[in-house]
Amino acid sequence: MKLKIVGSNSQGNSYILENETEALLIECGMRFFDIKKAIDFNISKISGCLLTHEHKDHCVSINDVMKGGVDVYASKGTFEAIGCNGHRANVIESKKPFLVGDFRIMPFDVKHDAAEPLGFLINHKETGNVLFLTDSYYSPYTFDNLNNLIIEANFSEKIIDRKMEAGSIQTFLRNRILKSHMSLETNKEFLKANDLSKVNNIVLIHLSDSNSDEELFVKEIRELTCKTVYAAKKGMVLNFNKNPF
Ligand SMILES: [Zn+2]
Ligand SMILES: [Zn+2]
Repeated sequence: MKLKIVGSNSQGNSYILENETEALLIECGMRFFDIKKAIDFNISKISGCLLTHEHKDHCVSINDVMKGGVDVYASKGTFEAIGCNGHRANVIESKKPFLVGDFRIMPFDVKHDAAEPLGFLINHKETGNVLFLTDSYYSPYTFDNLNNLIIEANFSEKIIDRKMEAGSIQTFLRNRILKSHMSLETNKEFLKANDLSKVNNIVLIHLSDSNSDEELFVKEIRELTCKTVYAAKKGMVLNFNKNPF
């Protein structure tokens, strides 16, 4: 399996798990053209699109994706907030598993300033259990038997605090960030709370342009976990299997 990063920041998020025969789209916050290009315009390969919540950087091309014949899976609250329905809109619920092609998906509720945001535990025989967790200021859950993680590390509390002291960030903005996105510090606490013994890759996503430090984030998570760690970047393609070889 490959993990393709079509985009991963507040300008747009879209990720694709793709093997020889099928592709699972996670988020459609990039132009549909860019998503199609990432899979060599082989749209029929897309088994479905998982969507976490209604913010534009995650769902901007939802109508084009559906018009392209792709089923989208999101919560009732998310579809209502977007104002989207129709036969391609599949309502899913936290803790109710479902299948998309050969992918088995377990959605779970997350903590974000959105109507009914979700995260996903995705199982496939090639990847094992993949956790997809973004736009959540902490995780209410821990997970067993994880093999690969795609997880938000949006900002560093230290960088935000430094900016507060320098007066370059306002209190309301600081509080908004702290109550919507996952910091590096919270990410670390989450990793410590979960059994990572079977984890192969950790991919850090949705890094803030102004409040993160890519090199430092990767270094710190690598030191903490002793795993293969990446910071997601537009155009990146990673081998994404249960085992490294
Ligand atoms: Zn976002
Ligand atoms: Zn969001």
